[in-house]
Amino acid sequence: MSEYRSFVHLHNHSDYSLLDGASKIENLVDLAVSLGMPALALTDHGNLFGTIQFYTEAKKKGLKPIIGCEIYVARDSRHKKSGGGDQSNHLLLLAENFIGYQNLCRLVSYGYLEGFYYKPRVDKELLSRYAGGLIALSACLKGAVPQKLLMEQHDAAYEEALTLREIFGPDNFFLELQDHNLASQHQVNPLLIEMSKKTGIPLVCTNDTHYLNREDSVAHDVLLCIGTQKVVSQKDRLRYETDQFYFKSAQEMHDLWGHIPEVIENTLRIAERCELEIRTEQLLPPFEVPDGFTPDSYFEKVVREGFKERKPHLEALAAAGRLKYPLSVYEERLASEIEMIKQTKFSSYFLIVWDLIRYAREHSIPVGPGRGSVVGSLVAYSLRITDIDPLQYELFFERFLNPERIAPPDIDMDFCMNRRSEVIQYVAEKYGRDNVCQIITFGTMAARGVIRDVGRTLDIPYAEVDRIAKLIPDEPNATIAKALEQEPRLNEEMEKNEKIRDLIIIAQRLEGLSRHSSTHAAGVVIAPKPLIDLIPLHKTSKDEITTQ
Ligand SMILES: [Zn+2]
Ligand SMILES: [Zn+2]
Repeated sequence: MSEYRSFVHLHNHSDYSLLDGASKIENLVDLAVSLGMPALALTDHGNLFGTIQFYTEAKKKGLKPIIGCEIYVARDSRHKKSGGGDQSNHLLLLAENFIGYQNLCRLVSYGYLEGFYYKPRVDKELLSRYAGGLIALSACLKGAVPQKLLMEQHDAAYEEALTLREIFGPDNFFLELQDHNLASQHQVNPLLIEMSKKTGIPLVCTNDTHYLNREDSVAHDVLLCIGTQKVVSQKDRLRYETDQFYFKSAQEMHDLWGHIPEVIENTLRIAERCELEIRTEQLLPPFEVPDGFTPDSYFEKVVREGFKERKPHLEALAAAGRLKYPLSVYEERLASEIEMIKQTKFSSYFLIVWDLIRYAREHSIPVGPGRGSVVGSLVAYSLRITDIDPLQYELFFERFLNPERIAPPDIDMDFCMNRRSEVIQYVAEKYGRDNVCQIITFGTMAARGVIRDVGRTLDIPYAEVDRIAKLIPDEPNATIAKALEQEPRLNEEMEKNEKIRDLIIIAQRLEGLSRHSSTHAAGVVIAPKPLIDLIPLHKTSKDEITTQ
């Protein structure tokens, strides 16, 4: 009976369920580990923003990561965008293997690229196409099956469940039971259990966690208000009716569901079945070289030509007695760098960077002189990737590329901020629009900002909130904790006024959570094939496609 007190949470939201999840990934993982759980799933709303961080974090701490997503399913076609408001249903998907993971990436990408209407939505057509390797759970009260049961659309609910079983396969679709002490759940759960008996569709229980501990429900409620721009005291607003959406222990889950042991056991079965190894590999797009050349030979040709152009300047310095090393040392260094770059198979990488910088120069787009370890490369100097002569400054190539420890080279390019988009445009045209995208980045709730956000939802007068916010130092690494240590007035305010006390405690709980996504100003991904086959994609409100 060693499994008796075991349980795996298969339905969890982190702060990447933006403004609806109050758990940081790191803390979720730590809590699961400290509760002795063997595995943990991450299932944010409609996105895979936290996937790699979660996967890495869990692996590092000896916890089995299960990659999933609570997706939005359009009632009709994903292309139909009318009716007003979000009418989509929830569905929980877990990747059973690598194929499932790839399919999940595609579904989530198409949700943004094709189905976005209030939420990133997929539809049954997409689900049928990309169901392989995925385990589906019927989700919360917003799932299509429970929703129809609640509306007493008995036949439609059964039809929905059978369709989902048909799509995912008999072993890969589960009816999901949740008990947050909500009346609707108490109404629907017996109906789901009955459905399971009649159809043979297996059951599983989850707790749809949105925060770590029970007492965090207050902070989570404030977070929801920030997200929906409401005030906590407002009656008519989205709220979670109970404080039960926390990360319960196996014992607590057993107390809830122990009378139907299979629904607990199935969490473990599903966790055992999910075996996913996310491979990270370095993929480089091919660089097209003129006829008669290989990437290596073309690389060598442009490097040698570039060096020839740099030479008169070096010769002039030598004649003036201002060159530290004779030109023969340059020639040797150049030959050995070329050899090493060919050996480590990074000729194409250099050609790609060279081409970008050349494009910028030819179009008078200002480019920085180069920074980071690449300044140690004479090849980079010859290609005008950098403007720094590494011999003159005693900079070593080995710090950039070391044949004994082949790490992908890393060249930072600084293009003029105002004209950067022209370079990105050029890259997209050259390597194919589907193969190029920008990188996503996340704004987090910083100390001052979160005080203002929380103050607004608690309906504290603006002047008062402003006074408190300004007691937090206006610097990038400021935290509320540090401010409390350094600023006695902040503590005084807390002691004097209970509302301010609540404000600061809640703000501190929400500080650092991801608040919104945006496009990284400078990061671009270039791949050898369409990105949708490699990574999950996201579309911003400005219609820019980015990574997730
Ligand atoms: Zn849901
Ligand atoms: Zn959920």
